[in-house]
Amino acid sequence: MITLPGLIDAHVHLRTPGQTHKEDLSSGTRAALAGGFTRVLDMPNTTPPTVDQATLDDKSRQVRASAHCDVGLFVGGSARNVGAVGQLSGRAVGLKLYLGETYGPLFLPRMDTVIAHMRRWPGVVAVHADGWHLAAAIGLARLFDRPLHCCHVARKAEIELIRQAKELGARITCEVTPHHLFLTDADSGALGPLGYVKPALGTAADRGALWANLDVVDCIASDHAPHTLEEKRGDFPPPGVPGLETTLPLMLTAVHDGRLSLDRLVELLHDGPRRVYGLPEQPGTHVQVDQHERYVLGDDPLYTKCGWTPFAGMTVHGRSRRVILRGKRVYADGQVCMSNA
Ligand SMILES: [Zn+2]
Repeated sequence: MITLPGLIDAHVHLRTPGQTHKEDLSSGTRAALAGGFTRVLDMPNTTPPTVDQATLDDKSRQVRASAHCDVGLFVGGSARNVGAVGQLSGRAVGLKLYLGETYGPLFLPRMDTVIAHMRRWPGVVAVHADGWHLAAAIGLARLFDRPLHCCHVARKAEIELIRQAKELGARITCEVTPHHLFLTDADSGALGPLGYVKPALGTAADRGALWANLDVVDCIASDHAPHTLEEKRGDFPPPGVPGLETTLPLMLTAVHDGRLSLDRLVELLHDGPRRVYGLPEQPGTHVQVDQHERYVLGDDPLYTKCGWTPFAGMTVHGRSRRVILRGKRVYADGQVCMSNA
């Protein structure tokens, strides 16, 4: 048994408010604890989106009422909140900007809006940006000397561009997801709509480049984006897969296979997210892991409401055994043990 610090997932969609048939703050944070995460950072593209004082107040209230682990909140940049959103910088972990061909209500098609947000937001700007949009975001961050965090980097050209920008001293950080590290477009046939994500699964060369450049990656983030099976198998499947309960076993498997050191795993799932978003330490918090247990990931048991995983059938090495949050045991041997669970 080894002890890790409480892990941090810097990119999740817990679906409260508005889409709680897929997930909610209670089920999503129980999934987090079951996966070894004691803090998650929740994205703003809910219904309604988190874009102003009222929606941030409402989500904060719901976090206090029903979350079982610590939850940091992003606010979203929209065309209408350029002037006002900066006032929320003390309460939000960062500003999320959706550039290019992204999904949801916060899509920013206009260059002037993106520039205005970049100039005015006083903290970390996290971007969903693919291809040329990523290159533009890196250029703008450099121009305005803003800390930029690139979410779910998935392509060879993108991770190589980030490496070059970092080598030039740009204030850039980035994350990659387990689904882009462990799956490729070759899995898409078998997974069908369950493998539909944005950014799409890459080629074997993309996946190889993510592993080869893992030394310039700051965080592994799940981009936990649950949808029901009915939605995924419907006529218009939405993009996204759950990931909170599979990220740690997959990354421990990478350690087992010699692709990653345990120290580096802790950097990617704890130190990196803390550094990128300036998060406080969680005293008395740790995760006990059995590094050697070998098992096959299944669809059950899962705490996420959606009840499935694209990694079902994969053999992994390593399992979270116990999670202690501020001195209290909150997860033990497959069971989340919360007084109010
Ligand atoms: Zn996302």
